[in-house]
Amino acid sequence: MRQTLCDKYGFDKVGRERRLALLGFGVEDLELAQLLQTKVLVPNRQAIIEAFYEFIMGKPEMAVYVDGPEILERLKQEHADYLASLGVDYCSSGYFENRLQIGMTNARIGLPLGLYLAANRLLVDLIMRCFPPDIIQQPELCLNLSRFVNRIVNLDMSLAIEIYHRTEVQDLESSVHDLLHERANLTSQVQRDALTQVASRQYLLDILAQEVEQALAKRIDLTIAMADLDHFKNINDTLGHLIGDRVLKEVAHRITTSVRDRDLIGRYGGEEFLLVFPDTSLAVAQQVAERIRQHIASTPIHLQEHSIPITISIGLTHFNPDDSLESLLQRADNAMYAAKQAGRNCVSVL
Ligand code: GH3
Ligand code: MG
Ligand code: MG
Repeated sequence: MRQTLCDKYGFDKVGRERRLALLGFGVEDLELAQLLQTKVLVPNRQAIIEAFYEFIMGKPEMAVYVDGPEILERLKQEHADYLASLGVDYCSSGYFENRLQIGMTNARIGLPLGLYLAANRLLVDLIMRCFPPDIIQQPELCLNLSRFVNRIVNLDMSLAIEIYHRTEVQDLESSVHDLLHERANLTSQVQRDALTQVASRQYLLDILAQEVEQALAKRIDLTIAMADLDHFKNINDTLGHLIGDRVLKEVAHRITTSVRDRDLIGRYGGEEFLLVFPDTSLAVAQQVAERIRQHIASTPIHLQEHSIPITISIGLTHFNPDDSLESLLQRADNAMYAAKQAGRNCVSVL
């Protein structure tokens, strides 16, 4: 079932009674509500509306919200309906719902609360000016009815303020949500390589620096590998750059699916990947590197009508406490170069 505004803002029977009590409504008001309709609003509704809009249209800050004669006619009609229901069955959920709805509409069109208040003050003035002589001649009744008019319009205002406040909070919450979402997107863009979806070079180096610190602080193993596709230039030259891109994607995928979740794979350069194996001895990393090499070499990559055999050369090295980030990376690069020298499609350790 759709949530009503009364549900949303806590105006069940108890909530409504509390609000009415807070604004000073009492049992005698039911009769006054009826009197207001029969003696004041029914005979004078149209005159009140005309006077109201004549005043509004003379005030530029208010007139901007009445954009053309058609809108003016529509607003007059809506206001006439509003007056026709003012105070009628004001304890009911239907009444509260309708008044909350009006507050919601005004908040959504961006009518400042100050202008809303000014318009309601004007309305109270105009209504009171229409009290008939037989009421004016009874000072006590006249006073009570005036107070009732104030109360019933204040009820609308109190509901509107509630709505305005919550609408603003909701709008703020939704922009905060959008900003967080956008930030998460941007972060992920910075951290990921757009083509292969593995870690970007920058993110990879940040993480590697952290892992180096961890390895030093906790005296744990850290092994890294530099992996470079063999004769990749040939693929670009013979099959084109787009196929080359798709081969790179597939290789990245094969490497990713060959390692543990904790291991990090990133794109170090064009067709070079860096693999970081935290808390992993050289011997274990060597087995993983061999598995990756085989996974890539064992099955050609099928793209369009092509079956593309691909191999990779991997250089492996273990972190030692004297290493800087640069020396560690340089040694991995040298190991990879040694694998190339050894005939490619192999794992070399330095
Ligand atoms: P080697 O076995 O010695 O590594 O030979 P190679 O051809 O793989 O190495 P080389 O360094 O001569 O060429 C690397 C090629 O990788 C050249 C470059 O155009 C290509 N490359 C780098 N980045 C990308 C990319 O993002 N997409 C594609 N399609 N090609 C790339
Ligand atoms: Mg290469
Ligand atoms: Mg290369």
